[in-house]
Amino acid sequence: MDLTFSDDELAFRDEFRSWLAENPPPPDPGDVGDDARNAWRGAWQRQLYEGGWAAPNWPNEYGGRGATLTQSAIYFEEIGRARVPLPANVLGILLGGPTLMVWGTDEQKERYLTPILSAEEIWCQGFSEPDAGSDLASLKTRAVKDGDDWLVTGQKVWTSGAQYAKWCMLVARTDPDAPKHKGLTYFLMDMEQDEVQVRPLRQITGEAEFNELFIEDARIPDENVIGGVGNGWKVALTTLMNERAGLGFTLQIRLRQILDDVIAAAAERDKLDDPRIADEIAELNARCEAIRLMAWKGLTDTERYGQPGPEGSLVKWLWSETNQRVTQLAADVVGAEALTAGTGWSYELLRARGNTIEGGTTEILKNIVAERVLGLPRLKAAA
Ligand SMILES: Cc1cc2nc3c(=O)[nH]c(=O)nc-3n(C[C@H](O)[C@H](O)[C@H](O)COP(=O)(O)OP(=O)(O)OC[C@H]3O[C@@H](n4cnc5c(N)ncnc54)[C@H](O)[C@@H]3O)c2cc1C
Repeated sequence: MDLTFSDDELAFRDEFRSWLAENPPPPDPGDVGDDARNAWRGAWQRQLYEGGWAAPNWPNEYGGRGATLTQSAIYFEEIGRARVPLPANVLGILLGGPTLMVWGTDEQKERYLTPILSAEEIWCQGFSEPDAGSDLASLKTRAVKDGDDWLVTGQKVWTSGAQYAKWCMLVARTDPDAPKHKGLTYFLMDMEQDEVQVRPLRQITGEAEFNELFIEDARIPDENVIGGVGNGWKVALTTLMNERAGLGFTLQIRLRQILDDVIAAAAERDKLDDPRIADEIAELNARCEAIRLMAWKGLTDTERYGQPGPEGSLVKWLWSETNQRVTQLAADVVGAEALTAGTGWSYELLRARGNTIEGGTTEILKNIVAERVLGLPRLKAAA
């Protein structure tokens, strides 16, 4: 693993860094409600799109810059370093677009990719259900053929951004008699129909980032099947693989920034001599550095073997636990302010609780590390 950037990589970094300095996002509107904040992130994405920076890792032919893996990591590090928000259509850019590029027909790519980049059409991910999260393949939402269409009925949950989405990456059961991984199909469902009801779920932070979806005979034309009927599990794995690989670099930079902010807050309050706080800072500092190096090692493996390895699960597990510990330390350092609704510190502390669940729970990630990285025997479920 060589952590020195080439001249091309440095030029790419400097170009994006100067663009960010000259084109900052509109001012953060603050605590103005979910809709206004979403509109702000949409405006920011349009600015990135017009500057050609919405998704540099996408191939040139689809509106990206054909950035290498290292350049893409640099891009996300710079987004984190500049403390600018991620684009509004982050699921479309990181998950939906790359899935279409692998499995979509030419017509689907032609129709859907550009509006993802321009934030004209927001995408959401309709995978999880009340009884299917970690064990996604046991999902029950069903789709039945009706002429040239499919009729979909079921319930989804935790669907982030569904209230703003035009399209939903929906996995549904099309063959109830097939083994559970084989009877699934991946659809693109139009959210703008009465048969899809979106009910926001209020989170501990006060915002409603995710939703329940109640779907009753929603209509999806056959041309919106992605990757073929009965092939939904494989297509969903492409989406999930991109989910774990995409955000790593932004997240580890943000973790570093929060820890630096906590250290500054501790210094301001003369708490750096408190041995308990000093010990925790030292350990979290070492963890942050280990996570950064593991993220780069994962990228080297992807370059070498063509796809992210199971080690990515280790990075997500360590990042989520460390982020929770850093925000807890912030609460110990700043005191009541971290527990006061509406402050930046309280947002970080409360939002971090979901980190060990979203994108794969810590227990599932530990299973993956045990079985696929360490080669331990598979866990036999108790009868
Ligand atoms: C902030 C946030 C945003 C989200 N956004 C989306 C989204 O946009 N779209 C979407 O589809 N989903 C989304 N999710 C859902 C997320 O993917 C699921 O919550 C996650 O996969 C876990 O599923 P579950 O909630 O059903 O828990 P379960 O799978 O029921 O798990 C419950 C508990 O059992 C443990 N467990 C389960 N199976 C095992 C096992 N085999 N071995 C050991 N322990 C096990 C889990 O670790 C967990 O502690 C989001 C979640 C969060 C927190």
